[in-house]
Amino acid sequence: MAATARRRSARREQDEAANAGTELFLELARMVAALAETRSLRSFTLPYPGYAQRALDHTVMRCLGIGRRPPRSLPELWEWCRDIGADDELFGVPASLVTPGATLVDRIGQMPTRTCLELASHGAAGGVAAQARSLLDDLEARCGSAERYARCRHFLASHPVVQQEDRRTRGWSKEVWARVKELYRPLPEALCVDGLFLPCPVCGLPALPCGRIVSDPVRPAAGEAIWCEGEDCVRPDRFEPIREPGLALILPRSLRTFLVLPHPVEEAALSELDRTGIEYEAAAGRLGAYHLRGTGSGTREMHVYDRLQPGLLAAHLTDTAPHSDRTFVVVPERLADRDGYRAHFTDALPALLRERLVLTTPDNLVHRLTASAAGGDPDSTADRGGPEPKRSEDEDDA
Ligand SMILES: [Zn+2]
Repeated sequence: MAATARRRSARREQDEAANAGTELFLELARMVAALAETRSLRSFTLPYPGYAQRALDHTVMRCLGIGRRPPRSLPELWEWCRDIGADDELFGVPASLVTPGATLVDRIGQMPTRTCLELASHGAAGGVAAQARSLLDDLEARCGSAERYARCRHFLASHPVVQQEDRRTRGWSKEVWARVKELYRPLPEALCVDGLFLPCPVCGLPALPCGRIVSDPVRPAAGEAIWCEGEDCVRPDRFEPIREPGLALILPRSLRTFLVLPHPVEEAALSELDRTGIEYEAAAGRLGAYHLRGTGSGTREMHVYDRLQPGLLAAHLTDTAPHSDRTFVVVPERLADRDGYRAHFTDALPALLRERLVLTTPDNLVHRLTASAAGGDPDSTADRGGPEPKRSEDEDDA
């Protein structure tokens, strides 16, 4: 009996230590996200902001607890966030929540990673993703009509950065700009290289070369490591630099990550619904969520995401517990096809939700909806392994 009690007690201590490490990783994610938005990354001088000092203190305590030399300053802690992965003994974050090896600061860009932003949105309060939603809620209230709001939202999603010359292009709407301009801010120096800003030609978000030194700002040398905030784009061969970044404006990172990044997959999913005549209506107060109509008995919703961490996406859906009978969770194909993404997502869901959530891609959305309406829905979340069965063209075009 005594041996069993000792084993239980040892296991409890291990669990508590693992939870403390995960809590610390989450706290550091919130700190990294906040520091990157509020100040120049090079000026971590004393006194540190209160939340950063607390995170540093908690890291020191954790290090002392596991017999590791603690970081001596905030700049050193920032380097730790760049170099130490989620699965290191310092954090011991379970692989069901975050991919082992994932870091909070990108090694090339020296900026918060998407995983960091997703972690900083974890939990009931919603963190950075909730900030994005709150900014859009305020915009919706200012717009006063669904049509005006849709135009403003579309503008934001397709203009993470606005330059002076954009205002002289055809289609520029003064009315839209008047409503959205307060969401933009000056381009921070930390996102510029040699007085230039390099938007990624694929995702339009900031890009930076390793060490912030670029051989040629238009055509970077082959082999030169380049980071873009989308993290998932093919390496650009060519840039169109913004040469007067002082005159350009940029959206806050919350909107860049949680509105701009999922925009292409949202557009693709909506265009599939339009193509097949399925009606939809935006769900109030939620990002990328739609009620679907005319898809058989029961309620159907579609939620669009572009999240790198399937475990965190599952946790978010569990926290927000969609109410519809079936919710189609649409993610980009390149993510859904990634090794282990589906399995990770499914494993992280509570059993009850597994039956109600269908993980799919824009191309397969209609196929899954039709199968679901016909009562023959092979639960996507049960499909844990390889790629989703592809739609048949005949079926969709019928
Ligand atoms: Zn990119």
